[in-house]
Amino acid sequence: MKVETIAIQAGRNVDEEMGAVMPPIHPSSTYHRGNNAGLVYSRLDNPNRHSLETCLTELEGGNESIAFASGMAAINAVFHALSPGDHMILPDDIYFGVRELSSEVFARWGLECSLVDMTDLDTVRANIRPNTRLIWAETPSNPMLKITDIAAIAEISRRAGLIFGVDGTWATPILQHPLELGADLVVHSSTKYLGGHSDLIGGIVVMAAPSELSQRIRQIQGIGGAVPSPFDSWLLLRGIRTLPYRMRGHCSNARAIAEYLTEHPQVVAVHYPGLESHPGHEIAKSQMMDYGGMLSIQVAGGAPKAASVASGTRLFTEATSLGGVESLIEHRAKVEGPGSLTPDDLLRISVGLEHVDDLIEDLSQALSAG
Ligand SMILES: *Cc1c(COP(=O)(O)O)cnc(C)c1O
Repeated sequence: MKVETIAIQAGRNVDEEMGAVMPPIHPSSTYHRGNNAGLVYSRLDNPNRHSLETCLTELEGGNESIAFASGMAAINAVFHALSPGDHMILPDDIYFGVRELSSEVFARWGLECSLVDMTDLDTVRANIRPNTRLIWAETPSNPMLKITDIAAIAEISRRAGLIFGVDGTWATPILQHPLELGADLVVHSSTKYLGGHSDLIGGIVVMAAPSELSQRIRQIQGIGGAVPSPFDSWLLLRGIRTLPYRMRGHCSNARAIAEYLTEHPQVVAVHYPGLESHPGHEIAKSQMMDYGGMLSIQVAGGAPKAASVASGTRLFTEATSLGGVESLIEHRAKVEGPGSLTPDDLLRISVGLEHVDDLIEDLSQALSAG
């Protein structure tokens, strides 16, 4: 089946008792013993969460999905499924929350970590140690939109007997299928495009195959208890129904804006994998269906100019996060704070679904002001 069909049909059942076409929300924390669905207690399983997990499994072509209360809780569960003394290789251009998770939480627990340039395959190979268990990629990456060759890293990981996980948040299951390219698992912050309306926090891990690792992550979900609520699961599934169509709009608006900004005299660099000038363009072309709705730019005039552009837009709201129907802009280094590796003249833009002409006009007035 095609992705538009899966997004709408997967995990959808007409309610037998009432005939409701759209699913009811099941807030009950507990279930009558001996029920046909085998439900016991909502931390362990819940009908809304179950439908959500079924839908993601089908969209990613995986074996099972495990939903969490946030993207960070999902990634936390993957790292937690390793053991103290293990080593993991993370990308240097990684979502800063994941870098903090490894340095602030898991370092104290004895999990070692190296941050490497995932676009340099020799460096990745050279960083594998006897205790390495996991290689992690984020592609496109946040906020530099670096592209990692998923199939190449999967091959390195497979030869070394490691686990390979991909954070696919920016690409969504519509634009990229890491499991088909050899990854063992994909993680999404469903707060972003999957939800799509900036009104919930969620995360999900999709596993390629049943394994000891998938059992551990499922255990961490049920026992650790960082589960999404029935309402958030329901809302998320509602968002996913339109994901394929929303992604078309995000991609076409972002491409037009990237092309416009490339020509702009106040813009010194545009990071968008859909541009032929992007260093990862050829790999992106081979592993992505389209190039997504995120881009970053660097402006002439450094940090003060970046700050004034971010606060001078009228349609683009100056706010963190991404993937909603509304356009957002942020001066990323300011948000990441001390320890940020992001250039201080960089603006990260989440291109929404407003008309592209209005968006371009807004960027144009903000860039030429001040
Ligand atoms: C937002 C984000 C996360 C974290 O997800 P939350 O839902 O905020 O916990 C992880 N990875 C990437 C790439 C993200 O954009």
